[in-house]
Amino acid sequence: MKAYEFPKYDTPLTIGKRTVVIGAGNTAMDAARSALRMGSEVIIAYRHGREDMTARIEEIHHAEEEGVKFEFFLNPVEFIGDENGKVKAIKFEKMKALEEKDAKGKRKIVGTGEYIPLKADTVVIAIGLEPNKIISEEATDLKINPDGTLVVDERLMTSISGVFAGGDAIRGEATVILAMGDGKKLQSPCTNTFKRNIYQLDFLFLFIEK
Ligand SMILES: Cc1cc2nc3c(=O)[nH]c(=O)nc-3n(C[C@H](O)[C@H](O)[C@H](O)COP(=O)(O)OP(=O)(O)OC[C@H]3O[C@@H](n4cnc5c(N)ncnc54)[C@H](O)[C@@H]3O)c2cc1C
Repeated sequence: MKAYEFPKYDTPLTIGKRTVVIGAGNTAMDAARSALRMGSEVIIAYRHGREDMTARIEEIHHAEEEGVKFEFFLNPVEFIGDENGKVKAIKFEKMKALEEKDAKGKRKIVGTGEYIPLKADTVVIAIGLEPNKIISEEATDLKINPDGTLVVDERLMTSISGVFAGGDAIRGEATVILAMGDGKKLQSPCTNTFKRNIYQLDFLFLFIEK
């Protein structure tokens, strides 16, 4: 959307003085470092402990090296706004870790009932990705996996004949190279389907013309 070329393009990029990024995956590290480079003070707040952060170790190391601060065992419960409706702080509940592990292998956490506010004029929520629900809500014939990704067959065709999908929409959080691979794989079945449909259309037009 070329927000970085504001005001030439009218997608404003709001740069906070103090940014809190919620989450501790690779996206959180990217967002934190970008905000930092734009001149904001940045804190990453994570509800688990340091050892359970999901970002790659290198990403965490680089974020720390660049000046991003980390706060652990903080679970956001409320955004606090000012009189203009802009965020001025986030209320967090302090968490503590149990010995028991959850399904993802992280130590389970429980609330302590103790709350603290962290000042923030910008908040980035980076707590995971899932496919945009608009498509599945609009196209109700599309079969969806329990995690929200689209069901596809080995040709990457969805449950709607002639409609294909690839990339993050079929596997969740993944990589550019996998999405590009899907594009390459799709090239021929899609082209064939389009060609077939165009032939059918041609045939229809011929039929109507007669
Ligand atoms: C912060 C961040 C950092 C990342 N860093 C890396 C990295 O360093 N290396 C790496 O390999 N991967 C990285 N990834 C992952 C990578 O970006 C994705 O795996 C990849 O972009 C998936 O490609 P895609 O085409 O499936 O989806 P996307 O790139 O998300 O493209 C989907 C497109 O569909 C559009 N769209 C959505 N809904 C609709 C609709 N209803 N109608 C029309 N258009 C619609 C969206 O606007 C978007 O342009 C990163 C991801 C994030 C979020």
